[in-house]
Amino acid sequence: MRERLAYSPPLTYRHEGQSQRMSRRRQIYEGKAKILYEGPEPGTLIQYFKDDATAFNAEKRGTINGKGVLNNRISEHIFTALQTIGIPTHFIRRINMREQLIRQVEIIPIEVVIRNVAAGSISKRLGIEEGTQLPRTIIEYYYKDDALGDPMVADEHIACFGWASQDEMNDIADMAIRVNDFMCGMFAAIGIRLVDFKLEFGRLWENDYARVILADEISPDGCRLWDMKTNEKLDKDRFRQSLGGEAEAYQEVARRLGLLPEEGEETPVLDLESHRKKRGK
Ligand code: 5GP
Repeated sequence: MRERLAYSPPLTYRHEGQSQRMSRRRQIYEGKAKILYEGPEPGTLIQYFKDDATAFNAEKRGTINGKGVLNNRISEHIFTALQTIGIPTHFIRRINMREQLIRQVEIIPIEVVIRNVAAGSISKRLGIEEGTQLPRTIIEYYYKDDALGDPMVADEHIACFGWASQDEMNDIADMAIRVNDFMCGMFAAIGIRLVDFKLEFGRLWENDYARVILADEISPDGCRLWDMKTNEKLDKDRFRQSLGGEAEAYQEVARRLGLLPEEGEETPVLDLESHRKKRGK
């Protein structure tokens, strides 16, 4: 059991065009790819997905057209599926093309990275060739702090600095493994290798008792997804490595998951944000 802490969202966030236009609701927090607004009921928030993309601790910035719409849909799909296998999540329901209703949680300041195949920072740090299948799944923890560049930490640091209790870390590791097992299968079924991904967790307070639930999002922004046949990257590495075709890659993931209309079918809902952009407004 943990003592209740006041919720204190970080204060220093840029205002960007998309956020100013979208909502008259009170903004609680603006991150690199999402904005959180006050929800309609106490204990709820609205999570808005932007097209903005950043990499290398925001040193590289850009936009991926339609990313927000796709990530909203992909994350809804995965969180809903995870709930059916008993993983508690903050997701309540999707509201529209770019927004979803979520439970307000106290975010645990740890990024949980699950790796099945070597790529990215583990390849660089340990000199393991990218694409090497790891003999077992690895879970790593990073302290969420932009100013420090999200440094990797050990359980000892998490316990020492009180970022999460041992019971919470046990729950997090158990859930991370179950999420990984489920997602490996889900992506394998559509010809995609789940190389690695990042999860975030939060505390949901019920009276004086806090339960850890899955929070944030699961989308190609925080996963490495490779086509099983060609090893083509279908995730944010296309943006990080300036490979081009990032919007198409995100669309391909959504399409294989069955979330996009098949060729010939009309998209039934107009996304005002993309529509305005196309018209240059
Ligand atoms: P790496 O440590 O190799 O850079 O990242 C491992 C995995 O976690 C990748 O799938 C990457 O997308 C994800 N990841 C790590 N840190 C972040 C982050 O700050 N933001 C997002 N969106 N994904 C991250």
